[in-house]
Amino acid sequence: MNLLTYEQALGSEDGCREEYLMYEGLRNTWAGQPLVRKNMLIDGKWVAASDQATLSCLDPYSEQEWAEVPVATVSDVDHAVSSARRAFDSGIWSNAPPAARFAALRRLGQLIEDNVEALALAQVRENGKLMTEMVPSTRAVASDSHFFGALGEMTHGYTVEPSIPNFTAYTRREPIGVVAAITPWNNPLVLLGWKLFPALAAGNTIVIKPSEVTPVSTLMLGELIEKAGIPAGVVNIITGAGATGQALVQHPDVDKIAFTGSTQTGVAIAKIAAERQARVSLELGGKSPNIVFNDANLSSAINGVIGGIFAAAGQACNAGSRVLVQRGVYNEFLERLSQRANAFRMGDPLAADTEIGPLSSRAQMAKVTSYFDIARGENLNLAAGGVRLDRPGLFVSPTVYADPPKASRLVREEIFGPVAMVMPFDDEQEAVTLANDTIFGLASGVWTQNLSLAHRMIKKIRAGTVWVNTYRMGGHVIPFGGFKASGVGREMGLHALDQYTESKSVWINTDAQS
Ligand code: NAD
Repeated sequence: MNLLTYEQALGSEDGCREEYLMYEGLRNTWAGQPLVRKNMLIDGKWVAASDQATLSCLDPYSEQEWAEVPVATVSDVDHAVSSARRAFDSGIWSNAPPAARFAALRRLGQLIEDNVEALALAQVRENGKLMTEMVPSTRAVASDSHFFGALGEMTHGYTVEPSIPNFTAYTRREPIGVVAAITPWNNPLVLLGWKLFPALAAGNTIVIKPSEVTPVSTLMLGELIEKAGIPAGVVNIITGAGATGQALVQHPDVDKIAFTGSTQTGVAIAKIAAERQARVSLELGGKSPNIVFNDANLSSAINGVIGGIFAAAGQACNAGSRVLVQRGVYNEFLERLSQRANAFRMGDPLAADTEIGPLSSRAQMAKVTSYFDIARGENLNLAAGGVRLDRPGLFVSPTVYADPPKASRLVREEIFGPVAMVMPFDDEQEAVTLANDTIFGLASGVWTQNLSLAHRMIKKIRAGTVWVNTYRMGGHVIPFGGFKASGVGREMGLHALDQYTESKSVWINTDAQS
């Protein structure tokens, strides 16, 4: 069974699993190796924390610590933001010709492509995602660098012919200034690239704070940023946990915050940003409905639902965690889904035939298993899984609950694990009501062969993405982001640079006497 993620769908090598056999022996060479130690990138120098504090990273498959990075202090954060400010104000990047910025992003894209394997391996160690997913996903990062670089060269406002005689008017788009990019652990480089590349293409400078669970791959990207010839201070990378992120958000010299993470953290950041009117874009959580109608091609729909909730062990913002199935196919669907959930090959994320890897961290394990406890307390009907696996590594079984009450916490809250809540519905109206009965609005799926029904659902679902007879498809040409509590703003797409530019209006009196 192939749990296709959209990065895999983009990478053409899906299905060529032989290519991945070579990675399986690597784990032996990792065993007994000393900790990988990395420093932060501030003002073009690789530095430890000013108080020498560090945090360590856990490989969730072996449950061994494998890397150590600094924990930035408030003064380190200030140093990084000041460096980004100086670089911005100097004009070395913000006033460089867009073509020069594009050339640098092309060089960076090529360096990422040349180092895909090393970057993918680091992410596998950091968060336990499958190598078969991380290679194409890292390739997508390389291509994003080219795409956003090209968009930067196209940055443009618009011209209008005003009704007032002898005046002309137009708009310009200008970089915002110092951007803070704060990223989560579930897809470290893809989610960073969606911020870093458009921010740089538009002429901003940046301070990056990756998740404390996955800092190494971002620091490795920093090494490539240096090699690409991007000037010192334009990109700074600080590491640490929530307190470091908070110090960055609070820094008065940060003009724009681009955040991906939980809704709770996003709300805290938005409140701080509002005090000084810093610009904010937020990509937050989800509880996305994946809706199967009676007339759907059931085999395709089951594959799509499985990819939607079990790929990446359910640790995806756009996971289709609420599976709504029309009554006519509900029993058959539930039985087939549960059988498949019980049959996945779980194991080493480096192995070519592993279908589901471990959860990313001990904190995530505690969170997911706490929902298993809540389900027992709520007496939910367990159709598959619902336990931590009795084996080394942070594994939980792919889990299916059948017909839970709408008020169940497992229906309402984002679990961020391989847990499908399968609920029946009778007709189109009930499907719409259930789909929209959530504080979130990130993504959704509709499975039907009726084109008119599909179009009606597209209009009625309150979510940033609607997939029809597919799930998780995506790419930099189309925007991604959420309605409601799933976020503010959109990443990717033709207008991605709007999030990293201010609009300036210009009026000219064409009849002025000199
Ligand atoms: P998180 O909110 O715990 O942490 C995200 C980042 O914010 C980390 O770098 C963390 O150190 C930092 N942080 C934590 N507290 C902070 C604070 N008070 N101020 C500033 N920074 C702070 O989220 P997570 O557990 O790393 O990621 C999982 C969440 O991310 C899920 O809710 C998921 O849905 C969401 N997500 C959303 C998208 C999207 O595009 N909408 C994509 C991926 C993940």
